[in-house]
Amino acid sequence: MSVSWRAPGRVNLIGEHTDYNEGFALPFAIEQGCTATVSTRTDAQLVVRSVQQDEPITVAPADLAPRAGGWAGYALGVAWALREDGRDVPGLTIELDSDVPVGSGLSSSAALVCSVATAVNDLLELGLDADALLALTRRTENDFVGAPTGGMDQLAALRSVADHALFCDMRSLATEAVHIALDGLRVLVIDTRAEHRHASGEYRRRREGCEAAARALGIRALRDLGPDDLDSALARLDEDELRRYVRHVVTKDERVLRTVELLRAGDTAAIGPLLTASQASMRDDFQITIPELDVAADTLVEAGALGARMTGGGFGGCVIGLVPTELVEAAGAAVEAAYARAGFRPPASFVAHPAAGARRIGA
Ligand code: ADP
Ligand code: MG
Repeated sequence: MSVSWRAPGRVNLIGEHTDYNEGFALPFAIEQGCTATVSTRTDAQLVVRSVQQDEPITVAPADLAPRAGGWAGYALGVAWALREDGRDVPGLTIELDSDVPVGSGLSSSAALVCSVATAVNDLLELGLDADALLALTRRTENDFVGAPTGGMDQLAALRSVADHALFCDMRSLATEAVHIALDGLRVLVIDTRAEHRHASGEYRRRREGCEAAARALGIRALRDLGPDDLDSALARLDEDELRRYVRHVVTKDERVLRTVELLRAGDTAAIGPLLTASQASMRDDFQITIPELDVAADTLVEAGALGARMTGGGFGGCVIGLVPTELVEAAGAAVEAAYARAGFRPPASFVAHPAAGARRIGA
């Protein structure tokens, strides 16, 4: 008996570094995803294979401990988290095949974890509901693998709806699918293929800075500041760095909310300036871009994109542009040419179509 589930990667249309500020994000799932085929075994081993890896990894369930298993940790961690919750996990063979680029900020890790969790839930008839699957997959990445992800990636992989973005409230973890009308427009993704430089240290610095600012302002999280509170909050902070972070987070939440309103009204073209304003805020205030990201975003706008911004955690990864369909090819070529002039590695690019979240495939 075996079952196959496929879970997608994602791009984030707008709203980065929202989790620890308990704010808003608006990802959508992409067509690229990870397929996990899971079957029970006659022995009690956990065997994980990936088409993208040479060697299978075999572990006895009793030997599972956080950080074990290398790349297979993203699959083994699901079994570990279930056992921590007091469930029996029999011997399983887990076979993975993914076309999400790894380490590009498109969340190949959440695609993997969510495909495994949904397949195991189905195969073992665990009856985990949407909230339990979210908790299980977050725990796998945070506690077993040790990756400080905040839940947006897993929400997108589990709950996305085709042709919609997923409006996520990272305080309540409530989600709402918002239709994206893409008539005559495309979301062009440029993968900078730049090495993430110091990304984890810089992430921690932003996170600690935002938390310090919230403490100094006497609020639970920066989410609790509205646009009208911004000037007085900035006046109460001494450090320029913290002021920049607060300005970014508060304006960002406003941009996400405004984007959702415009999408609901069917006016996708009008979100362009919000995307570009977001890029400027991440470059100047939050300072999480690198030259490869800035060049791609600026070049897309010069080539006719209605707006463009980096997406994901920053310091590498991808840029998205909202581009009139007839300009997509020329915009991609313009970024390639700009990269060649700047002496950067050639980028990769693709058009992203908002896709569905995790689903069972085959019989
Ligand atoms: P991202 O989620 O942005 O792609 P991460 O560093 O969070 O980057 O996750 C990438 C990791 O996920 C890889 O290093 C690998 O351990 C694991 N992974 C992703 N896809 C696969 C796959 N197809 N086969 C094996 N491991 C994979
Ligand atoms: Mg990841």
